[in-house]
Amino acid sequence: MSDPSDSPHSRSLFERATAVTPGGVNSPVRAFRSVGGTPRFMVSGQGPYLTDADGRRYVDLVCSWGPMILGHAHPDVVAAIGRAATKGTSFGAPTPGEVELAEEIVARVGPVDQVRLVSSGTEATMSAVRLARGVTGRRRVVKFAGCYHGHVDALLVAAGSGVATLGLPDSPGVTGAQAADTIVLPYNDEAAVAAAFAAHGAEIACVITEAAAGNMGVVPPRPGFNAALRAITERHGALLIMDEVMTGFRVSRSGWYGVEPVPADLFTFGKVMSGGLPAAAFGGRAEVMAALAPAGPVYQAGTLSGNPVAVAAGLATLRACTPEVYAAVDRAASAIADLVSQSLEKAGVAHRVQHAGNLFSVFFTDGEVIDYDQARAAETWRYPAFFHALLDRGVYPPPSAFEAWFVSAAHDDAVWERVADALPAAAEAAASAKEDA
Ligand SMILES: *Cc1c(COP(=O)(O)O)cnc(C)c1O
Repeated sequence: MSDPSDSPHSRSLFERATAVTPGGVNSPVRAFRSVGGTPRFMVSGQGPYLTDADGRRYVDLVCSWGPMILGHAHPDVVAAIGRAATKGTSFGAPTPGEVELAEEIVARVGPVDQVRLVSSGTEATMSAVRLARGVTGRRRVVKFAGCYHGHVDALLVAAGSGVATLGLPDSPGVTGAQAADTIVLPYNDEAAVAAAFAAHGAEIACVITEAAAGNMGVVPPRPGFNAALRAITERHGALLIMDEVMTGFRVSRSGWYGVEPVPADLFTFGKVMSGGLPAAAFGGRAEVMAALAPAGPVYQAGTLSGNPVAVAAGLATLRACTPEVYAAVDRAASAIADLVSQSLEKAGVAHRVQHAGNLFSVFFTDGEVIDYDQARAAETWRYPAFFHALLDRGVYPPPSAFEAWFVSAAHDDAVWERVADALPAAAEAAASAKEDA
């Protein structure tokens, strides 16, 4: 992959980073391994734009992988962070903001009576699974291939996101024992779920699923799939965990629950509710949450859980997410998705743009993608050329074919124009890409 010679600062930072950090990054997909080239080191963000260490400006179609729904450096969020930080950054004692953020979440998602705040999506899913096992006294967990729930040991089996990008079937360091109780099934396959419950129903503590899959590219649940998970878990006394870390408060003010109200026992949240700082949550029915320490016996804790600055950023973000904001995000997502599709059409590249609310991604394939096998069967080798042609023209899409594209309410007409200008060359690059090039 050719590297534009006008990124000397990113290149030099990456060399230094590689000396002191494995792979030069603190989260794998940032390293550009699946698209090649040098990752751009970002120094600032404003609205829909990012500026890198070499002073180049990009339309940001990653939005920090979801949190930046208002765009970068939104004045309300920056002001809330400033106000909170001035009063002290952590107390190790409860604060008023935590109550307000919990109330805000509980008010939006009907089946959630109580939440516990944590610092990352990984912590939220890890704690939700522990709680489900504690409450049911059962050990097995059902997850779906291509769904990513953070880097929880028991869930790093056939996971999407960076694991998909790097093609790791599993991770060394996850022991057989940690993965042995995990049952991995094809996404959108009700029959496989029924068969798993027929074989192991009495041992299954929970089914965990992304509310709409967005970590193998965007693969929405087929109509009735999530409801079927609700029905079968209920029948067998297992809990349903709806992972809304990506969809929560992004696809609607109530997340995917606002689009498809399936009453899961537990929900996990992160990303948008963090306002871009480390904050996440899990929550659910009162009698399930009552099993959590100190109310109940299932232990869970965190020195920085409910951190006052992170909570302030999350609250400011949720409160600024008006109906107009969601309308703007929806409009930008469909405009940009249409532009992508039109340019690929014109260049004669077989493709399919899939949507789940305002999440979308592009697969280089003809047919509908409903599961991980189909996602992996697409002509993903076209993506690096497509990606770099966009990057060279000031547009920053996800540096992996298996990630969702994210936009913000700040992505306006000027942004669409810039994307429209960059796309024809990128589509041509995708068309002339060679497998194993
Ligand atoms: C991002 C994500 C996670 C993990 O969240 P982190 O904050 O990165 O630990 C979990 N589940 C889903 C669906 C996600 O998209």
